[in-house]
Amino acid sequence: MDNQKSHVVVLPYPAQGHINPLLQFAKRLASKGVKATLATTYYTVDSIDSPTVGVEPISDGFDEGGFKQASSLDAYLESFKTVGSRTLTELIFKFKASGSPVNCIVYDSMLPWTLDVAKDLGINAAVFMTTSASVCSMYWQIDLGLLSFPLKQQTEIVSLPGLPPLGRCDLPSFLAEPASQTAYLEVIMEKFQSLDEDDWVFCNSFEDLEIELVKAMRGKWPLLTVGPMVPSAYLDQQIDGDRAYGASLWKPESSQCFTWLDTKPPGSVIYVSFGSMGNISAEQVEEIAWGLKASNRPFLWVVKESENKLPIEFLNSVGETGIVVSWCNQLEVLAHQAIGCFVTHCGWNSTLEGLGLGVPMVCVTQRSDQPMNAKFVEDVWKVGVRSKEDEVGIVKREELDRCIREVMDGESGEEIKRNANKWRELAKSAVSVSGTSDMNINEFVVKLQEGKK
Ligand code: UDP
Repeated sequence: MDNQKSHVVVLPYPAQGHINPLLQFAKRLASKGVKATLATTYYTVDSIDSPTVGVEPISDGFDEGGFKQASSLDAYLESFKTVGSRTLTELIFKFKASGSPVNCIVYDSMLPWTLDVAKDLGINAAVFMTTSASVCSMYWQIDLGLLSFPLKQQTEIVSLPGLPPLGRCDLPSFLAEPASQTAYLEVIMEKFQSLDEDDWVFCNSFEDLEIELVKAMRGKWPLLTVGPMVPSAYLDQQIDGDRAYGASLWKPESSQCFTWLDTKPPGSVIYVSFGSMGNISAEQVEEIAWGLKASNRPFLWVVKESENKLPIEFLNSVGETGIVVSWCNQLEVLAHQAIGCFVTHCGWNSTLEGLGLGVPMVCVTQRSDQPMNAKFVEDVWKVGVRSKEDEVGIVKREELDRCIREVMDGESGEEIKRNANKWRELAKSAVSVSGTSDMNINEFVVKLQEGKK
């Protein structure tokens, strides 16, 4: 297929959990002969290393320090909208002038203003959802009038088509506690209100995973599942042997953790990570520390430097049993045969990585879409368990220890492992040649080639 006349610019929100799937999508397009360029902020552009995809900077108005430089999330999003619209437009003009015109912008759902840029320039626009189809469907249900929010009562159970019964603790925190996250909620609602104006809506999921919702939403939006956006070598060695996302906002500490993992028996190690955003309370960190100690198994724990609140007595007592790093190549760790359990915050990328690599999960959620992802991990896909919080929202050490045992030991552990293997195979077939996600990407590529707009 000669797709070289298509040129797609892909624009992620500049955070690790957004750059990873969008860059991966750009790479998939490039592997199908499309010219793909990742446009990202000056602050993140040097973190990208991907030979098949072009990389160009645009500005969010905070070129030295990115989001950290802004006075608030509102200020950051506002600045990105104004300065980003202008510099993205300039970039598209630059490509036109150099004889490589852009015919589609694929943009992160956190950057809804991109639709206007594409419309003004008369080119195709496709939004990329970095959350699950189930989480997306919550906003659709609001739109349909099936769900009102904020929920009236603490105990209200939400029953919606295609979803298991959801309590308040299962909902995305944007919906359960809207007052605390107004800026995010506004951005998300803005995007959902204009979703039918996009030429395509991509979702980082796969049909078997969320079939009912995907089918239902397809009736309303031009939705295509294209995931899981996990580098293909981890799912299926046959595709193109891609073994890295190609973006890291932090440097992995060293390869020391792999040397250590090599010495451990298969399926024996607990890998613990709460994603890239950090800010876990000192009290929660302490409970995790003693919970790991109580489980009496080897562990590898990512504790970001900025939140290193580990108790000294714990560090002194760990010895050879565990190692703590500030950042690692998570995919490479999850793919290691020594890993038997993933204690995760259930960010959507981590969830897909655990699922795609067949690693049983213990969910210790914090905020955002994580509670709903955990609900599915435990009750729908049955590939892990969700730890229960106490009355002030902390997962206690005994509870963590209990969950680890449930996932790694006995009959429950065996069953979870069987389910994890099943989902691993389904994820692999979705992205393999002629799998549903692969075919959906092909469909996009062909339509683009025909010049949809
Ligand atoms: N990640 C990593 N090394 C780490 C911790 C995380 O490479 O030590 C990656 C992980 O593989 C995932 C991303 O960072 O792709 C985090 O995304 P996720 O959606 O799971 O969580 P977020 O950081 O957005 O909360």
